[in-house]
Amino acid sequence: MTRVPQPGSTTRPIPRRQALLWGADATLALFAADSWFPWLARWRQRAASADIFPGDAPDDALWALWQQRGWAREALHYLKLGPNVQCKLCPNNCLLKPGDRSHCRNRINRNGTLYTLAYGNPCTFHVDPIEKKPLFHYLPGSRSFSVATAGCVFRCLNCQNWEISQRKPEETKDPRGPEFRLRPPLPASLTRAQLQSLSLFPEDLAAVAEALACATVSYTYSEPTAFYEYTLESCRQVRARGLRNVLVTCGSIEERPLRELAPFVDAAHVDLKGFDEGIYQKLNSGRLEPVLRTLRVLRELGVWIEVIHLVVPTYTDAPDVFRRLAAWVAAHLGPDCPLHVSRFQPQHKLTHLPPTPLDTLLRARELARGEGLHHVYIGNVRGLPDAETTFCPKCHAALIERDVFAITRNRLRTGACPDCGTRIAGVWSPPPARG
Ligand code: SF4
Repeated sequence: MTRVPQPGSTTRPIPRRQALLWGADATLALFAADSWFPWLARWRQRAASADIFPGDAPDDALWALWQQRGWAREALHYLKLGPNVQCKLCPNNCLLKPGDRSHCRNRINRNGTLYTLAYGNPCTFHVDPIEKKPLFHYLPGSRSFSVATAGCVFRCLNCQNWEISQRKPEETKDPRGPEFRLRPPLPASLTRAQLQSLSLFPEDLAAVAEALACATVSYTYSEPTAFYEYTLESCRQVRARGLRNVLVTCGSIEERPLRELAPFVDAAHVDLKGFDEGIYQKLNSGRLEPVLRTLRVLRELGVWIEVIHLVVPTYTDAPDVFRRLAAWVAAHLGPDCPLHVSRFQPQHKLTHLPPTPLDTLLRARELARGEGLHHVYIGNVRGLPDAETTFCPKCHAALIERDVFAITRNRLRTGACPDCGTRIAGVWSPPPARG
């Protein structure tokens, strides 16, 4: 057998053309090796996605104001590596030198300590119907206090909330204004300046949600993993008041922080953005496998889960890939797990693409039903009959009918079909009385 020549094994000078060919061969081998060594694929994806901001931490004056407000906290789940730090919250695993800012924009290395800049300083909050999350099988018709800070662990080309998810906390909040802590009794309205400077700390957030007659608090709009410390403490405070917690998440979180947070989470709406690692990297700067792990762990820990999948033309509209996604949901989360197939609208960096054709969505619903899923909904489409109707999986009677986040008819009787008595999976009763 002839031994393959190794670059550098010869004592003769390497001709330029030969060196270039070896370089090309090595590059091809590296890419081909992905299929032989899965860890290499993960390393390459991680290296590509951990897109940090070197030297972008706030200056001393801004840092002092941020601390005074209580908007900075030492982060959870990170490693100290001499003067450097490595965040272990999400699979990006950002490695930061002193003065650097993270991929998610709201974590910084200050003198060898990792801090979050997103604590008690939401850039937006709102009372939404739970159907808007969307959660269709969880306390239907209830109100959810919805809260977000700036920053996200992903960089989705189609992000509908990019004005906050792709912003630093300092671009949405102003610590120089007069201090204003929001808590009951609530003002009738807020000015823009008040919104930019207000604090809403976890204990106040829980009190505000209760004062507004909300059954749940939803951590949503951007990504709760990116504001993990605020999410975790808020979840504890919300539970202490007898309310419930809802995560609306991309699911990209490491297992250890997830297992710390999940016992305080009652329901999760997880965005399964595709079923192909290459597309996840290209469309979302993320990875599929950790999202699947998150879904498995949430299921194992008894969190109510609903999955959403946005059908983006030319990215996530391949029928065979979608069929595999639906089959995975049925096999790992069960046939009763609701799947929301959602229509893409041109936005952010994909304004050149058309909205998802209706036929593509209808075919996706049929494919998902064909894989055994009982509750498949079509979202973001107006005027399509039964797109958001819950049917009995046994006798096919229409049970809950909806129209743009509102319930127009609810025939469920104590969580069961009134016609055939089949129990419908979900959490239908209101939260237990506090006491
Ligand atoms: S949570 Fe933020 S800082 Fe931590 S690894 Fe993920 S992107 Fe990086």
